Amino acid sequence: MALNIVLIGPPGAGKGTQAERLAARLRVPRISTGDVLREAVALGTPLGGLVRAVMARGELVSDDLMIEVVRERLERPDAAAGFVLDGFPRTVRQAEALDGMVAGRGPLTVVEIAVPEPELLRRLGARQVCRACGANAAPEAAAAGRCGRCDGELVQRADDDAGVVRERLQVYARDTRPLVQHYRGRSLLREVDGNAAPDDVFAGLVRAVTEAGR
Ligand code: ADP
Repeated sequence: MALNIVLIGPPGAGKGTQAERLAARLRVPRISTGDVLREAVALGTPLGGLVRAVMARGELVSDDLMIEVVRERLERPDAAAGFVLDGFPRTVRQAEALDGMVAGRGPLTVVEIAVPEPELLRRLGARQVCRACGANAAPEAAAAGRCGRCDGELVQRADDDAGVVRERLQVYARDTRPLVQHYRGRSLLREVDGNAAPDDVFAGLVRAVTEAGR
């Protein structure tokens, strides 16, 4: 079974949650470019300095920078057996670069998690994340007002502000959705209905990935 997996989907589709579960199930690392960048911003590294303002506006970080970030990450030994990529590629140029990076590693399996826009807006408007560790809050934790993982304070993610969400959805439609065509042409693409309970989405995802390996 091919374990080089890419999840594509609009902001709020549940990629982060599902990527984490899928990576744990398959015993490969989850590589979330959003998390890498948010951590760089939080730590005040040079990368963080370069991307902070762009992220706050909901725009995309430059292809060259992102391609370098992912190239380096995929070279680490833990990614040799496979990976679940979450948040990359986001443009056709990034996808072409990824094709080069994985050449000789076996095929990519790309899964699109589809969710209608009204549901995305509802989810992003309600999303709470931990200020300390960045984890998305599960509903029980959100009700309690504290992070279920580290007991940190829950806050809205900076780019989940309503105006920034609109920009991120437009950027997705304009720059990232065309990837679906890029991959469909080579029959690497599976679609999963993301407008369902997390366990059901996960079951669909596992099915999609397993079938892809046959
Ligand atoms: P989302 O919930 O929008 O999927 P992510 O956590 O994946 O959010 O990413 C947050 C932000 O980080 C993006 O809006 C963008 O500014 C930046 N980013 C993450 N991955 C990439 C990428 N592959 N290319 C360009 N920018 C990226």
